Amino acid sequence: MSELLDLFREREALLEGHFLLSSGLHSPRYLQCARVLMDPVVATRLGALLAEKLGRLLPDVPSAVVAPALGGVLVAHEVARGFGCPGIFTERTDGAMALRRGFTLREGEPVVVVEDVITTGKSTREVLAALEPSGAKVIGVGSLVDRSGGAVDLGLPRASLITLEVPTWSAAECPLCAQGSAPVKPGSRR
Ligand SMILES: [Zn+2]
Repeated sequence: MSELLDLFREREALLEGHFLLSSGLHSPRYLQCARVLMDPVVATRLGALLAEKLGRLLPDVPSAVVAPALGGVLVAHEVARGFGCPGIFTERTDGAMALRRGFTLREGEPVVVVEDVITTGKSTREVLAALEPSGAKVIGVGSLVDRSGGAVDLGLPRASLITLEVPTWSAAECPLCAQGSAPVKPGSRR
C-alpha cells in the first residue's frame, strides 16, 4: 500500500497540505484519482491489482463490472480487463442512477460494483439500487481508495487498494486554520 500511496503522491492524485474542498470543508488531504487514471499503463495496473484483491474475496467469477459515471468509468473498464469481462456504468438521469446505452444484465448474473473512491458508500448504494430491477447478483464491491478508513459496511465482500483517513473540518473547527495557515483550493496550486 505504501508503494501505491507514493504513486498517488507522485502523480499528484493525493495532495497533502491544507485544502478548501468544494463542500466548503477544510481537509489536510485531497484526492483526485483522475490524476493516476489518466496514465493508461497505470490505470491498467491498478485495475489488475484491484481485480486480483477483490477476486480473492468473491464466491464466484463476475461476468460484469459496474461503476457509477463519471468517476468510476475508467475503474470499471480496467477492473473488467483484470477479470476478463465487460465493464459498464450507471449514470444519473432525472436524479436517479440507471443503466443506459444498451447496457443490460441478466437475472442472477454475478457482478461486482467498483468506484474510484468510497467515502460513505452512498454512490455504491445508488448503483446497487440501480441494478436491482435487472435481478443481477452483486457479489462484491471494490474501490481504488477507501477514505472511510474501512468503516463503510455494505454487507458485501469489499476490497480497496488504499485505505486512508481523510479528516474534514468546518473552517471554525479546522486545526490547520488555528495554526495560522490559509486553505487553498485544490487545482489552483501552482
Ligand atoms: Zn482550515
